[in-house]
Amino acid sequence: STTIPEFYGTVVAAQANFYRVYLDENHEYENYDFSSYLLCTRRERLKKIGQNVMVGDRVIIKKSSLQDLRGLIISVLPRKTELSRPKVANADQILLLFPFKEPELEPWQLSRFLIKAESTLIPLVLCLNKADLIKPDEQKKWKMRLKKWGYTPHLISILNIQGIQELYDCLQNKITIFAGPSGAGKSSLINKLVPNIEQRVDKVSGKLRKGRHTTRHVELFRLPKGGLVADTPGFNQADLQCDPRKLINYFPEVRSQLKQGECQFNNCLHRSEPNCIISKSWERYEHYLTILAEMLSQKEVEQKKK
Ligand code: GDP
Repeated sequence: STTIPEFYGTVVAAQANFYRVYLDENHEYENYDFSSYLLCTRRERLKKIGQNVMVGDRVIIKKSSLQDLRGLIISVLPRKTELSRPKVANADQILLLFPFKEPELEPWQLSRFLIKAESTLIPLVLCLNKADLIKPDEQKKWKMRLKKWGYTPHLISILNIQGIQELYDCLQNKITIFAGPSGAGKSSLINKLVPNIEQRVDKVSGKLRKGRHTTRHVELFRLPKGGLVADTPGFNQADLQCDPRKLINYFPEVRSQLKQGECQFNNCLHRSEPNCIISKSWERYEHYLTILAEMLSQKEVEQKKK
């Protein structure tokens, strides 16, 4: 038999020692159906060297036959980014989805999610949903308020498809992790973007998928025109763990001030330290102070335990 060259692909789901992989299209194989995924195992040598395989990983695959949907992962390409909760490699962006209404958009809650997303250092797309439930001038007010926070949000309605095309364009050819509080519309959005998602038959087990929420594992879904999206069980908790001195970096509205100079003390927490360069007159300064205080008291509790 002739040897089959290696393929490149992306891991979209992982369970036990099996990986579901979408292959990149390869023009040498005109008749091969690249819309199906492969069920892969990991080469023994990868296990020996402790190389794990994550959802989102770019991998090189060896196939022994073109006829079946099996493959062997022979290597994992270096990761661009790595999130731990959810466990996803190579995420290009986080899409933070919040509703204007039902439940009511609450600045504090939004701020906490934003800070948590910023702490990953992965680019952030902010998206406000259910625009059909509020008047255009109210939408505009929020847009201007968030601009002062350092964000340019997409305003969308999944119900009447306002803004969906623009959002779709921004997801193309990227790996995007959806996050946001429950009720924001994450499932509705994925259902809108990924056709036939609920009807998809799992070729591996032969069973009909019973919705994504039966599984705790993260899974990437392919958009028809390229790009992968994941709804995550893990990102939804807005708890934050980081060095308190870094917290200020997660506020884009003042981040640029740090590039223009330095505070007198290099461990400055930007409260009332002398010669601090961070301005104190911005809407979310109060959020900053509250979260900082929470972090510091958390740290104290941890130190007492030791
Ligand atoms: P998730 O918890 O983030 O996955 O949110 P869901 O997708 O389950 O949506 C929560 C509720 O909001 C459902 O009842 C949806 O029908 C509703 N919903 C989603 N998008 C919109 C929208 O654009 N407008 C309105 N009015 N309701 C929406």
